[in-house]
Amino acid sequence: MTERTSVVIVGAGTCGLAAACELRRAGVDVRLLERDDAPGTGSRATLLWPLGLAVLRGLDVIHEARRRGLPLDALHYHLADGRTLRTTVGAENEALVLAQHATNAILEEALTAAGGRVERSSHVSGITPGADGVTVKVDRPGGTELIEADWLIAADGVGSTVRRLLGIDFPGTSLPTRYLAVEGAIDGDLPAGAVHYFLRPAGPMVVAPLRGGTVRMGAPVPDGTELTEATVQRVLTERGGDGLVLRRLDDITTFASQERVAAALRQGRCFLVGDAAHTHSPIGGQGLNLGLQDVHNLTWKLAGVIRGAFAETLLDSYEPERRQAARQTVQNTHRFARMFTLGPRRARVRNAAWRGLDAAGVLRRHFVPLLAGRRVTYPDVLPGAPARPVRGLPAPGERLPGNPPPGARRDVLRLLTLGDPGLERAGAALAARHPGRLAHEHRPGGRGFVLVRPDGFVARSGRTVQDLDLTATLPAGLAPAPEGD
Ligand SMILES: Cc1cc2nc3c(=O)[nH]c(=O)nc-3n(C[C@H](O)[C@H](O)[C@H](O)COP(=O)(O)OP(=O)(O)OC[C@H]3O[C@@H](n4cnc5c(N)ncnc54)[C@H](O)[C@@H]3O)c2cc1C
Repeated sequence: MTERTSVVIVGAGTCGLAAACELRRAGVDVRLLERDDAPGTGSRATLLWPLGLAVLRGLDVIHEARRRGLPLDALHYHLADGRTLRTTVGAENEALVLAQHATNAILEEALTAAGGRVERSSHVSGITPGADGVTVKVDRPGGTELIEADWLIAADGVGSTVRRLLGIDFPGTSLPTRYLAVEGAIDGDLPAGAVHYFLRPAGPMVVAPLRGGTVRMGAPVPDGTELTEATVQRVLTERGGDGLVLRRLDDITTFASQERVAAALRQGRCFLVGDAAHTHSPIGGQGLNLGLQDVHNLTWKLAGVIRGAFAETLLDSYEPERRQAARQTVQNTHRFARMFTLGPRRARVRNAAWRGLDAAGVLRRHFVPLLAGRRVTYPDVLPGAPARPVRGLPAPGERLPGNPPPGARRDVLRLLTLGDPGLERAGAALAARHPGRLAHEHRPGGRGFVLVRPDGFVARSGRTVQDLDLTATLPAGLAPAPEGD
């Protein structure tokens, strides 16, 4: 029998779960299909930066994430001469250390609360794209089911079946470095609230304390390294010093990473998100944050198109916006990985430079915001008059920190007018012309306006009523064509 649904999501990893939550909360009919029969337990991503946390905040699970995670206050660089540089993260770069399986558990609880569920033991093995839908073949222990969906989101990870079935290339390179990934308990001087980077002559190592006394450790190791307690202890001693002692080993694995971005992030009615769309070195903890932002970018657009508030052409902006973000992240993590894995001579130069940069405040001012994703910007691809930056106002394509604010509608553009009563009147009139698409708010201080997208990125900003008239072409351009066209 063939069932019909609005959206099929393939893969219930973090990105698939977040996409299902976003869409269910927007009232969209979703089926979330997962190959495995139980949630994964191994810890992979542990760092959530502001753009990843914005997704959890929007789903009202940020308090639960904070309860199960640890706030990240600082990055500690333990250098060869025994000195430790402590770079403060700062409230504006808010980050949380949370094991990925805990993030997934929180999202699955949110999905259940929103009336959704994960269909486990459901392996997607076939995709037939059509002009106005996609047929999805699902293999289950009890037999095969065909699902007709209007849209499909592929969140099926780095080895994406959907990407392969659609014939989308995944160009890039495999990185030579193999990393050891360990979870367990380690005795020693490893203050919580920090990620510890050991940059020692024997090689680098990173240790992140999680809540409850468990730590995640990662280190580049040669191919063929034995996965034993003795190996972990040797790496801890050589790279961290005699003071670090493995007390309990919960999980040990090695992995090699790749640097790839899919040749297309969208094909017809199918979208790729998360690792299915891009992959890179895990140094810097960017992967999950990038994937969650794909979800954030796509779901407000898709939900708006499905409820008829926005034209389907809005979905064309997904590919260029997320491709730019993926490229930026792959480039940055490539540099971090190179810096992290230098040989002993060049590592000495790096460590000296690192001390200088830290003393001059450069790490705090430039490196931490880069890790926090605050440099991610979008190209101007939305319809309407071109976006122009205006001095003193947030620039189009930038993310407006703290947005969307708690309680704000997450399915409409927000127009904030500031100060000028003329702008206030023009803003109210514009919102009245676009009900269900644009909400207006006025604040007495300042002068100008900012049009903010539901994902917190600035669409347009300006100073005057004339600027606002130009901006009015954007919501008009997002409108679906009138009936009969
Ligand atoms: C060892 C390691 C450490 C990492 N550390 C970090 C870090 O510190 N910070 C960070 O941000 N990122 C890190 N990453 C990357 C991060 O884990 C990934 O970016 C993230 O898991 C991607 O999420 P996803 O939802 O796209 O894919 P996944 O989490 O891989 O989920 C994909 C899901 O799809 C399912 N699936 C696959 N094929 C099918 C199919 N045909 N049908 C149905 N279901 C299917 C899978 O079973 C899986 O549940 C790390 C990765 C690794 C391997």
